[in-house]
Amino acid sequence: MNTCSFYIVERNTVLSSPRGICIDPIPEAIASYDLDEITLATLCSHTSLQIFHGAREEGFKTLGLAVGQIPKYYDAYPRAKPDDFLVVGSHLDVLKHAGELRDQNVILIPHGSLVEYLGADNFLDLSVPTFGNRRVLQWESDRTKSRRWLEGAGVHMPKEIRDPRDIQSPVIVKYHGAKGGRGFFIAKDYADFVKGIEPSAQYTIQEFVLGTRFYFHYFYSPIAKTGYRLRKGALEMLGIDRRLEANVDEIYRAGGAAVEPTFVVTGNVPVVLREKLLEEVFDMGRRVVEKSIDLFGGMIGPFCLETMVTDTLQFKVFEVSARLVAGTNLYPTGSPYADYVYDTMSCGRRIALEIRNALRSNQLTDVLS
Ligand code: ATP
Repeated sequence: MNTCSFYIVERNTVLSSPRGICIDPIPEAIASYDLDEITLATLCSHTSLQIFHGAREEGFKTLGLAVGQIPKYYDAYPRAKPDDFLVVGSHLDVLKHAGELRDQNVILIPHGSLVEYLGADNFLDLSVPTFGNRRVLQWESDRTKSRRWLEGAGVHMPKEIRDPRDIQSPVIVKYHGAKGGRGFFIAKDYADFVKGIEPSAQYTIQEFVLGTRFYFHYFYSPIAKTGYRLRKGALEMLGIDRRLEANVDEIYRAGGAAVEPTFVVTGNVPVVLREKLLEEVFDMGRRVVEKSIDLFGGMIGPFCLETMVTDTLQFKVFEVSARLVAGTNLYPTGSPYADYVYDTMSCGRRIALEIRNALRSNQLTDVLS
């Protein structure tokens, strides 16, 4: 018996899940949906607030996936509280409810925590139509592949040091997978590296870049016909943040005492960019999206380029996050950039608007996987 009901289609390519599960096409699933009764669902989290708030603004029903219990903070934020909740025992239990979610005409909206807690493989196995192109995960979560993608797009990245014995100036050692900077450390030489490394983990060594960090909140629409046009569709840049990281951001307060810097994300602050750099920000985004179209059918919807601008005003991109990032929580009703495109727009609402536009133009399957 065929136990699965979806598979993920990428511009003529079938992406089988890592467990080889066979699944029917998303277009077929969508064909069975009542398009007047679409529900946008996501995992309950801080970022879900802008997703639910935005979905409601665009006239969608909303469903919160809660693990264990319904978080009490939704009572404090009634305009961002979903219409309904599905309470599951664990993150993995979401998989068991796929049929139920499809019966409710659910489109799932991924965000960083959803992918992190579900795990990349399970996210690929989840047989519920999902906003964006899930195939991007294979390129984004593997630092070797993401470097191939970004450098192939012609953006500058921090230099990679393949052999730790070659460390001659400060480097940052990063573990694979999105960890919010946890466990990363700086090494000045090989001895430092040996002292700090967690031997069983997969890691990457990068030149430690000094500069100012900017995290750009882009949105790529493959179906837009106006705006900053790409080979296909259009690109928006709706906001910028900078992450707050403990303890590196405040290490100066230790008064020069020997403290090892750590890079654990604790929050985000809004920033705007020096004027002359804006053109380049769009050009970087354009090249990264166009390369993604060539490599895996395109990165759809919100994404973030995490960058450093050096004192020679050169961008170095150290990471791409191919979904709604937590820094966008700064701008629930607009930003110094979004305000020049829309009256009131968060990145969460922009996703709902994309789904609404796709419904209107009968292109829903172009923005889902
Ligand atoms: P995410 O949650 O975005 O997946 P991550 O765990 O993959 O995070 P990065 O975003 O790559 O980690 O890096 C975490 C932090 O480490 C950055 O915000 C930045 O402060 C610092 N950092 C990363 N790369 C460099 C670099 N090449 N030079 C200097 N600092 C860096």
